[in-house]
Amino acid sequence: MDINKDARTELGEVGEFGLIERLGKNFGLKNPSSVKGIGDDAAVIDAGDKYLLLSTDFLVEGIHFDLSYVPLKHLGYKAVSVNVSDIAAMNGIPQQITVSLAISNRFSVEALEELYEGIRLACDDYQVDLVGGDTTSSLSGLVISVSVVGAAEKDKVVYRNTAKEGDVVCVTGDLGAAYLGLQILEREKQVFMANPEMQPKMEGKEYLIQRQLRPQARMDIIHILREVGLVPTSMMDISDGLASELFHICTQSNVGVTIYEDKLPKDEEVSQTAYEFKIDTTTCMLNGGEDYELLFTVSQEEFEKIKKEPDILPVGVIRAKEEGMTLYSKGGKIHDLQAQGWVHFKDNQ
Ligand code: ADP
Ligand code: MG
Repeated sequence: MDINKDARTELGEVGEFGLIERLGKNFGLKNPSSVKGIGDDAAVIDAGDKYLLLSTDFLVEGIHFDLSYVPLKHLGYKAVSVNVSDIAAMNGIPQQITVSLAISNRFSVEALEELYEGIRLACDDYQVDLVGGDTTSSLSGLVISVSVVGAAEKDKVVYRNTAKEGDVVCVTGDLGAAYLGLQILEREKQVFMANPEMQPKMEGKEYLIQRQLRPQARMDIIHILREVGLVPTSMMDISDGLASELFHICTQSNVGVTIYEDKLPKDEEVSQTAYEFKIDTTTCMLNGGEDYELLFTVSQEEFEKIKKEPDILPVGVIRAKEEGMTLYSKGGKIHDLQAQGWVHFKDNQ
């Protein structure tokens, strides 16, 4: 392999996805048991009669969370949820997690016990076992890395690259709340820093804040899909925003999509708060991250099996690739879908 030692490309030039693609491009899969490598919500490993699913995620202080308003217990819960969500996104059932920590002596044992109380609550909710991890020190902030193992019958695993033209695009729950929850927490932090006497104004925003601090992986939906006997044609979780996730599904499946603005799952608290922040509600729903809802596609016939489920909404249709990714607005206009997602490595990150 040729590596040009004199070249220097800044991380910001390639972006997160470009970086992963560039670093991973020279790694083929050697073992027949490696069914799916880089590129989906979890890796897929042939374990004989089943597929095992494996995924890992970092939460880094100052990048993913701010301990001035994130309680450690919620943080522990969230660290597990975001991993379980990746297993749900493959239509699998989570089974084990490992938790690795890098900690500074700024934390007391009791503080870390709080973190683990959140991890334990999540392990109970998702029925997963904590089976190991690693602990080391850190000079700067707290770093939490959780890995998760899940399992699924071979014919139930759902990938990102298998959406078909004509499929119905479905979204669970509602979108944009976690993003607005973060805006409120940030606003109140600024107010508090300017004047510590001020009481934070969070009444009526409990739902948004809870969606930001303590997201729930949608394992309930995975169980519903099993009960009604439906295997989506493609699926992923919504961690970076609906538009960004649609971009992954469409590029990997070689298709286009039309999303109908009036069908997007809108929560009343989301609309009100978006208005207060002078942000367009649709932009929040399309580009706000961290909702950890599920995005999936099903054929028109299969959609009949779930059309009465209150927490599953049809929001669009998969089109031919040539038709691109579009948003059909309430006013009947057609816009290009902008997939901005979260841009890591921006400026000082
Ligand atoms: P998610 O949002 O579900 O956590 P990511 O965007 O982090 O997914 O990752 C996309 C894909 O790239 C996944 O298959 C993940 O395993 C892989 N990936 C991410 N970072 C690395 C890395 N440093 N080396 C190899 N693969 C990576
Ligand atoms: Mg990741």
